[in-house]
Amino acid sequence: MTRLLAADPAGIAAAADILRGGGLVAFPTETVYGLGADATDDRAVARIFAAKGRPRFNPLIVHVSDGEAAFRLGRGDARARALASALWPGPLTLVLPAAEDCPISLLARAGLDTVALRVPVHPVAQALLAVAGLPIAAPSANRSGHVSPTTAAHVLDDLSGRIDAVLDGGPCPIGLESTVLDLSGASPTLLRPGGVTVEAIEAVIGPIALAGRSDGSAPRSPGRLESHYAPSLPLRLDVLEVAPDEALLAFGPAPPPAPLAINLSREGDLTEAAAGLYAALRSLDAEARKRGLTRIAVMPIPRRGLGLAIADRLRRAAAPRPPRAELNGG
Ligand code: AMP
Ligand code: MG
Repeated sequence: MTRLLAADPAGIAAAADILRGGGLVAFPTETVYGLGADATDDRAVARIFAAKGRPRFNPLIVHVSDGEAAFRLGRGDARARALASALWPGPLTLVLPAAEDCPISLLARAGLDTVALRVPVHPVAQALLAVAGLPIAAPSANRSGHVSPTTAAHVLDDLSGRIDAVLDGGPCPIGLESTVLDLSGASPTLLRPGGVTVEAIEAVIGPIALAGRSDGSAPRSPGRLESHYAPSLPLRLDVLEVAPDEALLAFGPAPPPAPLAINLSREGDLTEAAAGLYAALRSLDAEARKRGLTRIAVMPIPRRGLGLAIADRLRRAAAPRPPRAELNGG
């Protein structure tokens, strides 16, 4: 049985108790709902991988209350500290060399000598971290490979009966995962575009590299294989004309006619589009299947600001699907 907990002091206390006892609680953050466990407890972390069906080589982000707590777990240089003071709390994850005697479960780190750290700004996430008094490992609270959840109901759709509780804090304000920046090597490298824009990061530390682009090498982030964030129907991207058997994920003031459509933002606002993206994919998928449509067509989204992260998620949602056992990510 999965308990639905209100995001009030009693619900947060109950959630913290579950975490301290080695259980799993999904909780809201400004990005998406996370599936939390005590990041220092191997068995609790193992339960996250089991509940999600997540491959074990894909490490987890560890959530902490503030920069001070983060830099006890990972070694932060001047760039990390500058980014932390400019952009934490917020949707930025820093991959740092693990501190000596780092207490984070090796399973959460997938055996790496680095650790991915984030300080969320969402008040419910902050309250849970404070009351639990633990670093919380938390990937997105969905079955591996599926669309990420931005409401408690989405979490229950995927994980009801597989986790102990969901803290219901309403819809997530940003709606896209955090930006992941690797600071463990010589040059800062973007591993995943997300809720903090490249422009905002570069304003603090100067130019950053995009993983797997500049030198053609494989991305350094183990969780960055292709198919991910996928609804059940296939996607067709950058569409200007919709086929009769397609539902439309629209963007902007002048969408083409379609038998069924959801517009991410009539005004062409990328922040609004990001916040509604996953909910739109979920409901378009369900409604299109009910009506016998066979595909989701997606209009072009400008690749600037949050549009870079939106385009990244849509490209992965459209990628050829591997057999279930190989599905990567979370
Ligand atoms: P998720 O938890 O599903 O939001 O995904 C977390 C992302 O961070 C995945 O793409 C991981 O591969 C990446 N990540 C987590 N820890 C590390 C690490 N130590 N080194 C590189 N990438 C990491
Ligand atoms: Mg995920």
